[in-house]
Amino acid sequence: MSRIQLLPEILASQVAAGEVVERPASVVKELVENSIDAGARKIEIVIHRGGISLVRVIDDGCGMDRDDALLCLERHATSKIRTSDDLAAIHTLGFRGEALPSIASVSRFRLTTRERDAVAGTEIVVSGGRIDTVRDGGEAPGTQIEVRSLFYNLPARRKFLRSENTESRNVEHQLHLQAIGHPDVAFVFVRDERVVFHLPATTSLRDRIRDLHGAELVERLLEVKPAPRAKKIEISGLIGKAGLSRQTRSQQLVFVNGRAIESPVLTAALREGYHTALMKGQYPITFLFLQLDPAAVDVNVHPAKREVRFRDPSSVREAVVEAIHATLEQDRGPWQEQFRAPAPFNTTEPSPPLDRLPPIAQPAPEQPELPQPEFDQIQLRAPAVDIPPAAAVTRRDGTNGSTDSSHEIASGTDQQFQIIGVLNRLYVLMENANGLVLVDQHAAHERILFEELRRRMEEKGVPSQRLLLAQTFDLPPRDAEWVERNLATLQKMGIGIEPFGAQTFKIDTLPTFLDAADPSTFMRGVIDELRTTSNSSSALRLGEDMIAKTVCRHAVKANDPLRYREVEKLISDLLECELPYCCPHGRPTMIQISNAELEKKFGRKV
Ligand code: ADP
Ligand code: MG
Repeated sequence: MSRIQLLPEILASQVAAGEVVERPASVVKELVENSIDAGARKIEIVIHRGGISLVRVIDDGCGMDRDDALLCLERHATSKIRTSDDLAAIHTLGFRGEALPSIASVSRFRLTTRERDAVAGTEIVVSGGRIDTVRDGGEAPGTQIEVRSLFYNLPARRKFLRSENTESRNVEHQLHLQAIGHPDVAFVFVRDERVVFHLPATTSLRDRIRDLHGAELVERLLEVKPAPRAKKIEISGLIGKAGLSRQTRSQQLVFVNGRAIESPVLTAALREGYHTALMKGQYPITFLFLQLDPAAVDVNVHPAKREVRFRDPSSVREAVVEAIHATLEQDRGPWQEQFRAPAPFNTTEPSPPLDRLPPIAQPAPEQPELPQPEFDQIQLRAPAVDIPPAAAVTRRDGTNGSTDSSHEIASGTDQQFQIIGVLNRLYVLMENANGLVLVDQHAAHERILFEELRRRMEEKGVPSQRLLLAQTFDLPPRDAEWVERNLATLQKMGIGIEPFGAQTFKIDTLPTFLDAADPSTFMRGVIDELRTTSNSSSALRLGEDMIAKTVCRHAVKANDPLRYREVEKLISDLLECELPYCCPHGRPTMIQISNAELEKKFGRKV
């Protein structure tokens, strides 16, 4: 007797279900995608007990006639593709014709559906893949699918389910993806009889995100600027401002042609796009939409269609990196404005009596430069009275500081920020129209140094100095190969290194800003780190990585007392940076505490 047999239909469906239906969230995904493909304007999702005891999806889409309703439960039955040419350019979310039979084979399943103009609809009840009932039914036009007792007939699979709470959260996450991907569809989610969210249809992604995540998050998002050089790919959406990040990837959402996907190519592109604007180990918040020719992306990679394969991954990657860069830099203008806004000054109210206020610095013409006090010598600045936005500084010793014109904050119209003082020799306190601003002087200096060195590297190379004694050192083959490949970049970075035998190298210059005691140890360290962290071998990126790693040691440290002028220069230099909001390691350089927050804390407002 032959040993090979064809699997019975139901068993084959259960095998397929192993890939498509992992947990209640996968049922929800498949059913909601079907509703969207059916042109639904409103989708209601109900779950009980994490979706393990019930998932119900009701839509107002096109519905099915009786023949189709029966056919859709057969394996490989789909209305979405017909020929292999169709497979090469998928326009719908589904196309495999696998989901419904798979789900029906591992649950107690009930389908009711009615086409818009049909007199009656159809109801089909299936248990573990076997059709029990077919009859007239279906009230409103559209489709309703109920999936009860998931995996009731496959106890081994049921064991892999997590707690009801975890499964609920997975379902909710899945619905977030669908809701963000399709703002034009209304969604209602009911969990254990409680409405979790009710999202009206909208044309605006911003509104949809606000409805789901609240206004606070939306305010911290930037509209993505299209990548000008990318031709065959449209990029849009909203992404978190520099410095905004999460510890998990749960809010790093990317949609390709309307489909939420996970892609190492895109994850790497996002990381690279944010680069110095992201802290190590953190993930950006993105709601990014890529639209490209369906023929340029293969969605038939994963049974759950979570992954895609790009025909030209490097151009997709470049386009995303470019769009993110451009978007983050666009934010600079408003950021600077906010910083520069003068402190609010109410001209309609009478000024307070002048004699009660600390004296105001007068401009002192032609005074010789006086030694500048450090900040701990400066106690208070007088409130700007009749000469806003300039601030003045008085000394603790009570002198009116009339000779201290140097402490008056730039009286030009350009720099209107007002420095109040320095806290803990680390945080510069400033005032702007919004309230209080704290600047981390070390982080700010790192950012300034980083950008300056990068500029120099791009222009003509980092200035270097010759070592007293050139050193030679050996490297293992893979490191040696890496150095040879990146020789030009290293030299641009001020590292004078050249091959000196098979795997031996000679190093005779180092960047001036570096004071490495032992150049060869330094080089080994650089190679180790860069070889593992730089996934792209772009010269510029390599240089940036190296600069980012070294600037920290050279930046003004916490506890380094700065003179007033130095603080002032620090802030104005920071404002000129391309990405002023965070240091090259992604930590914020400044924090704003708004007047509203202060008022709340002091109980002036609730
Ligand atoms: P696929 O979505 O890959 O085509 P499915 O098994 O998910 O495969 O669905 C099979 C077919 O059933 C679909 O192609 C579609 O024609 C029909 N169908 C499924 N769900 C719905 C729905 N909610 N409304 C209308 N038609 C549906
Ligand atoms: Mg489907």
